[in-house]
Amino acid sequence: MAEIKSGDANGAGNLERPASNFIHNIIDRDLRENRYEGRPVYTRFPPEPNGYLHIGHAKSIYLNFTTAEKYSGKCNLRFDDTNPVKEDTEYVESIKADVRWLGFKWDGLFFASDYFDRMYECALILIKKGRAFVDDLSAEEIRQYRGTLTEPGRESPFRGRSVEENLSLFEGMKEGKYADGEKVLRAKIDMASPNINMRDPVLYRIARAEHHNTGDKWRVYPMYDYAHPIEDAIEGITHSICTLEFEDHRPLYDWVLAELEWPLPPRQIEFARLNLTNTVMSKRSLKELVDNGDVEGWDDPRMPTVAGLRRRGITPEAIRDFCERIGVAKANSTVDIALLEHCVREDLRRRVESRNVVENPVRVVITNYPEGGAETLRLENNGENPSLGTRSARFSGELYIDGDDFMEKPVKKYFRLFPGNEVRLKGAYFIKCEDVVKDSAGNISELRCTYDPATKSGGGNEQRKVKGTIHWVDAKTAMRIKVRKYDYLMLEGESSESALNPDSLREIEAFAESSITDAKPGERYQFFRHGYYMADETTDSEKVFNLIVGLKSSWKKVTV
Ligand code: ATP
Ligand code: MG
Repeated sequence: MAEIKSGDANGAGNLERPASNFIHNIIDRDLRENRYEGRPVYTRFPPEPNGYLHIGHAKSIYLNFTTAEKYSGKCNLRFDDTNPVKEDTEYVESIKADVRWLGFKWDGLFFASDYFDRMYECALILIKKGRAFVDDLSAEEIRQYRGTLTEPGRESPFRGRSVEENLSLFEGMKEGKYADGEKVLRAKIDMASPNINMRDPVLYRIARAEHHNTGDKWRVYPMYDYAHPIEDAIEGITHSICTLEFEDHRPLYDWVLAELEWPLPPRQIEFARLNLTNTVMSKRSLKELVDNGDVEGWDDPRMPTVAGLRRRGITPEAIRDFCERIGVAKANSTVDIALLEHCVREDLRRRVESRNVVENPVRVVITNYPEGGAETLRLENNGENPSLGTRSARFSGELYIDGDDFMEKPVKKYFRLFPGNEVRLKGAYFIKCEDVVKDSAGNISELRCTYDPATKSGGGNEQRKVKGTIHWVDAKTAMRIKVRKYDYLMLEGESSESALNPDSLREIEAFAESSITDAKPGERYQFFRHGYYMADETTDSEKVFNLIVGLKSSWKKVTV
């Protein structure tokens, strides 16, 4: 196992400084030394089509594509479809859509299965060189023979087979003469190697399975460690960027290409995979959540999948900003999900309009407002960005305010509405609470208030200041909407079912100002003082809004 140290320079704790990129340093050196004899820098993103992409993949996509861009090079999208059983074309399509949505364009689109013939020929070369042999040991026996970290392995009794015998047995494997697991093709390297990956690793296995691309043409399938370097080399990849768990596999990657005498072989570089708090990140765990019905599907807005983040309302720009800020490191660490939220807020802050939405509504009656009267006010769409203009809102003597904005017995430093106190209604007037009316059960049925006509917002003739500003909606024209509040999927950053957050989805009703009727599915808003929301894209009969991210950050470490 690779030694993994924590606290590397780019670990999650050091986000204030610009992320340095050790991968670019390696590429710079290769270019200086002309290692690739003038060929362009060429990278690839190589997903296995066995699930939907998640934000960890987004990090890898970002890294591969922006690295190619930086060096005016190229980047391929390659489906690593060497395992026929778990792969599916549904995943292929979703992965393509996700990469495009993130804003990247691949130079070549390839499938590892396109190279099965070539890989087979390469295996014949290795057999002829005496570097590969057909083994009859079972998977279990191979494990037993492999040895441990402290003990060398033992050579297979079939290791001494002649080239001719190996060639004919391997052909038999290909032709389907043997059952799954009956034979494998193994590299002949060194059973005493301190690196277990080099102890005669398996190169090919028998699998009588239908492949999504090649159908039943093949009965043998290459193993990842053998296939990957060949795929890279065929495509002219110069820098093969992968995650840290492959560090110990690099000697095998290099061995395969060296034995095949490949000119200018690609260089494998490992970086730390992204882990995020309060969610799970492996496709296998995410698939379990989907299969168990813990979430609605791969694109459930609580999922860390690219499809889920998209449905949540998070933009590709925010995801790219996040990937840039986390940088790349050579040591595993866990990034606080609050950093992602921070990027989402920063992205939406100046670009979306706000709307007044009231939760747990409390009725306000303005006793000195002209009876039955109403007026139209102009409200700013974005206080920080005047170019987003204004909208009209009806104001009258009957309003709703947020339940949180009133306290009958205020706590210390509560500056919102309470009996005897005056606040500003955002974009409207000052109101003062004169009386609290309750029903027979003791619940507040309305707040009787007075307003000061001289304090109309924008009038510039306010005589006094108030400490609190709250928002409101007109009672008569307010729209009832459904609001879905999402919380973290996991209580901790664990993948175990027990860590599932039972309250990751709450649905409430709220009152919105009438202009919310114009919201089209997929449109984003700031619900003033509440958070960022997106009109749900999958329901159109009723107005449903999904929480993208709340307004307040729990993230303290980021300085902006
Ligand atoms: P998972 O374990 O989630 O199934 P994987 O590594 O098996 O992921 P692949 O489809 O093989 O998924 O990955 C495609 C590319 O994305 C690989 O280069 C892989 O290293 C990278 N990748 C996968 N997960 C992460 C992550 N959490 N952070 C960064 N890169 C990742
Ligand atoms: Mg994988």
